Amino acid sequence: MSNILTPRSQDYSQWYNDLIIKGNLADYSAVRGCMVIKPYGFALWENMRDVLDKMFKDTGHQNAYFPLFVPKSLFEAEEKNAEGFAKECAVVTHYRLKTDPNNKGKLIVDPAARLEEELVVRPTSEAIIWNTYKNWIQSYRDLPILINQWANVVRWEMRTRLFLRTAEFLWQEGHTAHATKKEAIAETTQMLDVYAKFVEEYMALPVVRGVKSANERFAGAEDTYCIEALMQDGKALQAGTSHFLGQNFAKAFNVQFTDKENKMDYVWATSWGVSTRLIGALVMAHSDDQGLVMPPRLAPLQVVIVPIYNKDVEARQKIDAKAEEIMKELRAKGIRVKFDNDDNNRPGWKFAEYELRGVPVRIALGARDLENNQVEVARRDTKEKASQPLEGLTDHIAQLLEDIHNNMFQRALDFRTEHTTNADTWEEFMKILDEKTGFVYAHWDGTPETEEKIKELSKATIRCIPLNNEQEAGKCILTGNPSTQRVLFARAY
Ligand code: AMP
Repeated sequence: MSNILTPRSQDYSQWYNDLIIKGNLADYSAVRGCMVIKPYGFALWENMRDVLDKMFKDTGHQNAYFPLFVPKSLFEAEEKNAEGFAKECAVVTHYRLKTDPNNKGKLIVDPAARLEEELVVRPTSEAIIWNTYKNWIQSYRDLPILINQWANVVRWEMRTRLFLRTAEFLWQEGHTAHATKKEAIAETTQMLDVYAKFVEEYMALPVVRGVKSANERFAGAEDTYCIEALMQDGKALQAGTSHFLGQNFAKAFNVQFTDKENKMDYVWATSWGVSTRLIGALVMAHSDDQGLVMPPRLAPLQVVIVPIYNKDVEARQKIDAKAEEIMKELRAKGIRVKFDNDDNNRPGWKFAEYELRGVPVRIALGARDLENNQVEVARRDTKEKASQPLEGLTDHIAQLLEDIHNNMFQRALDFRTEHTTNADTWEEFMKILDEKTGFVYAHWDGTPETEEKIKELSKATIRCIPLNNEQEAGKCILTGNPSTQRVLFARAY
């Protein structure tokens, strides 16, 4: 397999797939729409998971685990949720296979092993969780419940794309229960802020926080809050969602509690999730034609040391010793570093390989460098190279990793600023979408019908009604009806 990527400008979609496959993040699998996450991709996911998990725990949540299967009768209980997910559900109907009597060596479903009640493979876990919460909640003293689970879910997506939209994906789903509406809304926005902070401060990707329109709301939610990021082709990607579920699930599963005044009320709920889609977002937002560009705070490998040997054995030993020493010092500072002294590959090959994998910093070290008490340091984001004295190298690298993070964030922010436009007329709106692409702020009359019509005509959707949006009187770009604020439109993944 050649390691050359399809150029981004030539075929963005192929460029993205090349990055995932050749960058060693994932592989296609025998199952349609499902992928294999390879060790390098999984290490990235583990880093994301560790940071998020700590953020969840710091905000008072605990992890738990609920079953993969949801009995159909439970799944049906919250009607809107069930209806919304119905067409994407994988369903287990049997629990046994048997040898085909007419075709030895082949297996068939054993008709005698039909389940009495079908099991839905969870596309999301509200139903099974609220059916459990019913047994856990009697009084206000049992509240709040602040639980998260790390799990896989299945949504039978028709059009899939590595990481961004797969039939099975890994995610976390928070499910909380509260005594008051106010508390539940505060939880919903708190978790949105956690997601925004994570994506901005770890993935180096700026996001817009907002609320979804009714059409785009999570099935069964009263309000869906989201963060939206802009990809390099000018398309938006929903990077995370936090739902205020009202009392919908409590009513569906009859989860009531006695409040402080001894009155009965239904419990208030939230749920929130981010998935392996975040890896797709990170790849699409930062990579270039040479490969991945990993944001340092999440990069599985932050620094690689490549020795430049010559034939002199003694010089080689000195290089190895120095490289080991540098590696030790960097590790002591908590930096993830590898010394690649594999003799099977030449330095040039290694440079290209680590560039492809997006390792933020490369240190190259040869006999002449050592004589001069220096190394060559290259940064992946700008591809700049410079000689760096050995003295103070560890501090320099630690600072450089921070600089790279900041530069990547700024670059993504500048790109977003350049690709964010206000449109006041339909013509302007279409022109921007077709020529410049990106985020478009425009007035909308607030009706689902107009939103649908705009989507049909332009293929752009309302990504969100931004939070803290300035109120501004205007006219809907399609109907001319009055509007009080601009909403965020974009073509999206
Ligand atoms: P939802 O439960 O629909 O609000 O989605 C929760 C999170 O999972 C969001 O951050 C979505 O971006 C993400 N997500 C939804 N569908 C998929 C999918 N098919 N593949 C990967 N991630 C997804």
